[in-house]
Amino acid sequence: LSEVDDRKMLERVVESLRLIYGVETDVTIGQLSEADAAYDGKRKQYDASSLLKAAARRDHSGMTLVLTARDLYVPGFNYVFGYAPGGVGVVSTARLGQRVWGAPSSQELVIQRIVKECVHEVGHLMGLSHCSNHGCVMSFSNSVIDTDRKGSAPCPECMLKLGRSRRL
Ligand SMILES: [Zn+2]
Ligand SMILES: [Zn+2]
Repeated sequence: LSEVDDRKMLERVVESLRLIYGVETDVTIGQLSEADAAYDGKRKQYDASSLLKAAARRDHSGMTLVLTARDLYVPGFNYVFGYAPGGVGVVSTARLGQRVWGAPSSQELVIQRIVKECVHEVGHLMGLSHCSNHGCVMSFSNSVIDTDRKGSAPCPECMLKLGRSRRL
């Protein structure tokens, strides 16, 4: 489910998920109105956990990834690019357009960041944890600098883990 209506970007996400994980993604563009209740007026941000609970109440089969422009937080963090504790995951584009060192972020760079964070959250949905390899898409991103530094696919070790958990 994508609240962001950007077909070019969504195509890239779908393509990457297919190439990396071999999964086909159905994209629905629409608003997750139930997520309005996840808004924290003091922080002017959305609580990622309650947004995911709202998303989980929707009918869905298999894995669900919500793509939203809402700015997300989880307790203990100023913001997060995404969150996927299980079943349903979310990626926020709110902060992925950030400028680094004052340089404007090109549309292509922003798409790459969104793709990486989507591949990251789907990795969680498939059972992967954070990886200490900074080039691995499963390494945690504190900022877009981390996102730009990491690769767009899981490292060989993570792919191996994925293969193992699939065989179970
Ligand atoms: Zn993560
Ligand atoms: Zn890894």
